Amino acid sequence: RHYLKNIEEKNPQLNVFVSVYADEALQRARQIDEKIKAGTAGKLAGLVVGLKDVICYQDHPLQAASKILDGFVSQFSATVVERLLAEDAIIIGRQNCDEFAMGSSNENSIYGATRNAADPERVPGGSSGASAVAVQADMCQLSIGSDTGGSVRQPAAFCGVIGLKPTYSRISRWGLIAYASSFDCIGLIGKSPEDIALTLEVVAGADSHDSTVSQRPVPAYAQLLQDGQTPKYRIACLREGVESEAVAPAIRQAMKASIEKLRAQGHEVEIIDFPILQYILPTYYILTTAEASSNLARYDGVRYGYRSPHATDLESLYKKTRSEGFGKEVKRRIILGTFVLSADYYDAYYTKAQRVRRIIKEQTDKLFEQYDFLLTPTTPDTAFPLGSFQDDPVKMYLADLFTVQANVVGVPAISIPAGKDEKGLPIGIQFIANRFEEEKLLKISRILL
Ligand code: GLN
Repeated sequence: RHYLKNIEEKNPQLNVFVSVYADEALQRARQIDEKIKAGTAGKLAGLVVGLKDVICYQDHPLQAASKILDGFVSQFSATVVERLLAEDAIIIGRQNCDEFAMGSSNENSIYGATRNAADPERVPGGSSGASAVAVQADMCQLSIGSDTGGSVRQPAAFCGVIGLKPTYSRISRWGLIAYASSFDCIGLIGKSPEDIALTLEVVAGADSHDSTVSQRPVPAYAQLLQDGQTPKYRIACLREGVESEAVAPAIRQAMKASIEKLRAQGHEVEIIDFPILQYILPTYYILTTAEASSNLARYDGVRYGYRSPHATDLESLYKKTRSEGFGKEVKRRIILGTFVLSADYYDAYYTKAQRVRRIIKEQTDKLFEQYDFLLTPTTPDTAFPLGSFQDDPVKMYLADLFTVQANVVGVPAISIPAGKDEKGLPIGIQFIANRFEEEKLLKISRILL
């Protein structure tokens, strides 16, 4: 009732939830109360969760904030959803996002922009913008988002909450609408490392529906977070994060303050150079648009959602449905992706980007031979005003400068709140760790929070 009341009060202004499952949630809450009395309740009993509009929930609408999925209803639930429900979490509703998870501001949406609760004239980040605001504004306790290049961490930073992108393959992608399959990760947004730890251990792990999921056993993250001491870590801090003019002064300041705090507790922090940083973003945008152009080929007006009423034959059905159904940013990416995959340009762009991806991976791996973490700001700047990059998508892509590396390489990363800037806007800093070291990320977050 607490969360439903907050949704009722704040949703008209912030535009976070696009569906609210009030009756269903209350009914489940009552059943869970009974289970608690009987001592049979699951690990997440009563945890109130929101789902980004790219995650299937059986018999509930799903649209990826796109017209092209108008009227679509999921026929099955994502593996994460099934596991949440099996442990007695309560799903309260479906959250706005950027169309097909493409964007950094939550403005590319058929439902309109979501607003940042810290300043409603500003964006919450994206693409899981609403999922971050839902936690920020106490409209649910935890959100399930997706992170292909920063979509959980960047909005978490803009909204002053925690966002975890696990290792690629740690959580099943079954039931997650695909954007760029070799980058896509389900991620968690919450206010405490404990909530994230417990939820992660429930949703992670092998799944016969997704052959890319790791078979590795899932650690008891919540327990591990509680007991055991914290080792002294070796942390590499990216020089740009504390020195570059491209990073807002308040963020550099927040980085320095965190470094001091870590050093005071006996952790080692070294400022390092990572000269290939500038190649990560172009690599990301070449490969993700290529994968997106292929993944989004399935929306043809025949199988899902929207079908143009103006078509006269099969070909015009495809053309008109896609022209009318997809938004501007999605079309831009399909065209870019189709271009880099076209026969004449494949080697110059796609193959080359694959090679660069390998180099970035090797160099990141090398870093983790020496250090426990790579520390960076989550974003170069704090939340920007709505409409700032309407005519300049490439500028908006720069918001992902620090977040895309983890997805290009497939390693886990977390964004944690690190104070506010002079305008009172939240700042986030990011820790990246080696594969399957989520536990370490949760531990370092606890040290700093
Ligand atoms: N903002 C990035 C993009 O637009 C990241 C998106 C994401 O992680 N889904 O591609």
